[in-house]
Amino acid sequence: MLVVNGLKQLPVVVLTMLLLGCSGDRAVVIEDSSDRRIVRFDVASANVYVIEENGHRLMIDAGNPGDEERYEALMRGSGIDPATIDFAVLTHGHIDHAGTAAFFQERYGIQIIGGAGDKPMIEAAGDVDLCPTSITAKLLHMTLKGKQYPAFQLDRGISATSGVVDLAEFGITGKLIPHSGHTPGSMVITIGSHAFVGDLIRGGVLRPEVPTTHFFMCDLEENRRRIAEIMALEEIQYWHPGHFGPFPAAAVGVYLTQQTDE
Ligand SMILES: [Zn+2]
Repeated sequence: MLVVNGLKQLPVVVLTMLLLGCSGDRAVVIEDSSDRRIVRFDVASANVYVIEENGHRLMIDAGNPGDEERYEALMRGSGIDPATIDFAVLTHGHIDHAGTAAFFQERYGIQIIGGAGDKPMIEAAGDVDLCPTSITAKLLHMTLKGKQYPAFQLDRGISATSGVVDLAEFGITGKLIPHSGHTPGSMVITIGSHAFVGDLIRGGVLRPEVPTTHFFMCDLEENRRRIAEIMALEEIQYWHPGHFGPFPAAAVGVYLTQQTDE
């Protein structure tokens, strides 16, 4: 019995190592121009981004619970004191995007902004039904079931009906687009030629620059429609997902065509 259980767990253990454990923590500068600096912090394959503009700092997403100090260390290594970050926008309320929000809110007074549609998910601390999209995702699902993050409350909930929000009120040039493809309260952030898309799409585990369908998606068709909406924004040249990536917009176009052909 023990052996059977052990064997059953094996793919999960291997998969978890592959997805969460193997990649080293890294900070990658995405843009460093006269307009702004954007840095990606990758911990356990969960991307957190910080945008700096005119002395203002905006964080996008918050990674997995338990990884607080790893993100802190990466930020400090890139010359960013977390205490100087004003706001964090969560692309959605899943555990690997909102996991350290409570920590950054409590310790550094960072205001947490999320989609109002994800409030029930955030009140459940991320313990919600996920819809696996593949066998790999089903295995991954076994490791995530019932997991919760430290509780927090949104400082501001953006309603899906409020339309596009100008990031100027957070000191940054860009837009916040309520975008319910992946969860009811998902949001996409566009800054210059960059789109930060959360889990609308992800990069490949072995080929991070190749767009692929996310592990968990309850309404694939709606999600594809939403991807096409972002594709229609001519200024967007680069897509930055929550996991792996980034990829050029043209690669997302190829992905969408393949999906439609299937
Ligand atoms: Zn998600």
